[in-house]
Amino acid sequence: MAAVNQDRLKNLLLELVRIDSLSRRERDVAIRLQREAESAGAVCRFDSAGEKVRGNTGNLIAKIPGNVPGAPPFLLAAHMDTVAPGEGVKPIVEGDVIRTDGSTVLGGDDKSGCAVICEVLHRLREAEIPHGPIEAVFTICEEIGLQGARNLDLALIESKEGLIYDSDSPGYLVVRAPGAVTVRFTVKGFEAHAGVAPERGISAIKVAAEAIAAMRLGRIDDETTANLGVIQGGRARNIVPGEVVVRGEARSRNAAKLQSQVDHMIACFKDAVARASVVIDGERFEASLDHAVQQAYDGMNVPDDAPLVKKVIEAAHRIGRAIEPQGTGGGCDANILNQRGIVVANLGTGMREIHTTREWLDVRDMAASAELTLEVLQLHAGR
Ligand SMILES: [Zn+2]
Repeated sequence: MAAVNQDRLKNLLLELVRIDSLSRRERDVAIRLQREAESAGAVCRFDSAGEKVRGNTGNLIAKIPGNVPGAPPFLLAAHMDTVAPGEGVKPIVEGDVIRTDGSTVLGGDDKSGCAVICEVLHRLREAEIPHGPIEAVFTICEEIGLQGARNLDLALIESKEGLIYDSDSPGYLVVRAPGAVTVRFTVKGFEAHAGVAPERGISAIKVAAEAIAAMRLGRIDDETTANLGVIQGGRARNIVPGEVVVRGEARSRNAAKLQSQVDHMIACFKDAVARASVVIDGERFEASLDHAVQQAYDGMNVPDDAPLVKKVIEAAHRIGRAIEPQGTGGGCDANILNQRGIVVANLGTGMREIHTTREWLDVRDMAASAELTLEVLQLHAGR
C-alpha cells in the first residue's frame, strides 16, 4: 500500500478551509490549488465556465502525464465552492478531527476532496506509482446547481472514467443518486375586502392550502422524496389574497417515479384550483394556476458491475479494505458528468454533518480515501 503523508494532507486542508470560497468567488482557493498541483508536477489551466456563471474563476484543470505507456486517462474531481455561512472559517483541531467553531460550516464539503486529490498527485510522483494520465478537475459553483460541472469544457478532458470526492464515508462508493425536478406553482385567486365583501373574493392561500393538504410529500418511497419549501403570497391581513406562489422539488433515483410524483403534485394544484370559483354580479370568476417544472439534473446510476465500480472494489481488496456501492439522496457533480458521458462514482472523504455549523471531519478518513485512490489508479493503468 502506498501510504500517504497525513500531515501534509491535514495542513493543506486547514489552509484551504481558511480561504473563503463561496460559490462564484472561488478564485483564491483555485490559485492555492493550482500552486499545490503544480508543485506535484501538474500542468494547470482554467476553462471559461466562470464567465458563463458570472463567477471570478473557471474550473481548474490540472493534468499529469502518465508513466505507463498506453494507460488510459482517469479523472479525479472535487468542487471548490462552499455553502454559507462559510466565510472566515476558524477550524478547531482536535488531533485528527477537525471541526468548526460553530459559527460557520467547515467547508470540508468539498475542500476535503480537493486536498485528497492534491495528496494523490504528490504521492504518485514521490512513490513513483505506475499510472496513466491524470486529469484533476476542481470545479466551481457545485452548490448552486452543479454549474461548474455543467459548463466544464469537455474539449479539455480525455478521461472516460473517474472518481468524484464529495460524500462522507470512504467505506462507501456512491453510484446511484436521484434526479431532481424543481416545481413552482402560482395560484391566482381573486382579491376582495376581507371584512366588507369576502364573498366577492377567492383566497389563493386557501386554494393552495387545499392542494398541499391533499399532496404526498416527504419520503415517498425508498428512492423518492418531495418537498414544498417556500410559500409566498398575500398582501395584507384584511385582503382576501389574490395570489400565492409555492416552490418545491421532487427527487428520485427512478425516473418514472420522479415523473409520477411531479404529475401528482401538479394534479393536486389543478384539482384545488378547479374547485375554486365565485360569482360576482352574475359573472363567474375562477381561480387559475400557472406551474413551471424544471429538470434540475438527471439521476446517476452506475451499475454495480461497471468496470469502474469493479476496479474500486478490487483496489479496496488489494489494500485489505471493503467498499460497498450504494445510493444517496443528494445530487452532485457526478450526476452531471455521468450525464455528459464520463462514468464517475463518488468516493467519500470523511466529511460529516455537512451544510451545518456542526460540520467536522477526520483526517484519517481523507487519508484512507487517498490511499484507495492510489490503488485504483494503479489498477486502471493495468498494474
Ligand atoms: Zn459537496
